[in-house]
Amino acid sequence: MKAQGKFILLELNEFEGWLNMQVITRKISLVQQHHTYVPAYKHVKKENHFDLCKSMEKEHLGRGFAEIAQNFTTFPDGKIMVCRNINTVPAGIKGANFNGICIENVGNFDIGNDIMTPAHRDTIVSMTRMLLSRLGLNASDKSVVYHHWYDLTLGKRIKREGTGTTKSCPGTNFFGGNTVPSFNANFLPLIRT
Ligand SMILES: [Zn+2]
Repeated sequence: MKAQGKFILLELNEFEGWLNMQVITRKISLVQQHHTYVPAYKHVKKENHFDLCKSMEKEHLGRGFAEIAQNFTTFPDGKIMVCRNINTVPAGIKGANFNGICIENVGNFDIGNDIMTPAHRDTIVSMTRMLLSRLGLNASDKSVVYHHWYDLTLGKRIKREGTGTTKSCPGTNFFGGNTVPSFNANFLPLIRT
C-alpha cells in the first residue's frame, strides 16, 4: 500500500482488507464499469499510477468536476487506486451516480485496441465480487452496470440495445462485449459467488 494525498495504491490482495476497514455511510446499489479510453495501455509505464490519476484529475477538474470522477481506478498490472472517497457520489454515469460506485479501468477496450492483461482481468473480476459482497448485493445486470447501457442525454437506462445516445464504454471488447447479453454471458458468471 502506497499513498500520495488521497490517492491510495493497493495490490489486489490488499483490497479486501482495505474495503473491510471502510465505514460506508451512503446507500450504494450499483457498481459501474468504465474504461478510461485515454489513458490507454500505451500511456502506462512502470510505476506511473499516481501520475496517471493526477493527470485524470486535472482533466476532470477542467470539465468542472470537484475532483477526480471515479472512486477506483484499475491498472494493467492489476493494481487498484482508491481515488474519490467511497462515500462521495462519483461522476461516472448520468442518472446512475447517486447510489453508484465508479470503477475506471485504464485502457481502451474497444475492439481492435488494448488486449486486457490477465492481471487486469483478475483484478476487475475480484474487486467487483468483493464490492458486491461488502455492499450486500447479488451479482446481476442491475447491480453491475456498463456505461454503454445509459443514454448520455437523458440520463436513463436504455430500453433496447442500439437505441438512444450511448458511448461504447467500457469497450466493445470488454469481457467479450459491452451489451447486456454479453455481460450476462461473459462477465456475470465470473462475478457470481
Ligand atoms: Zn464510461
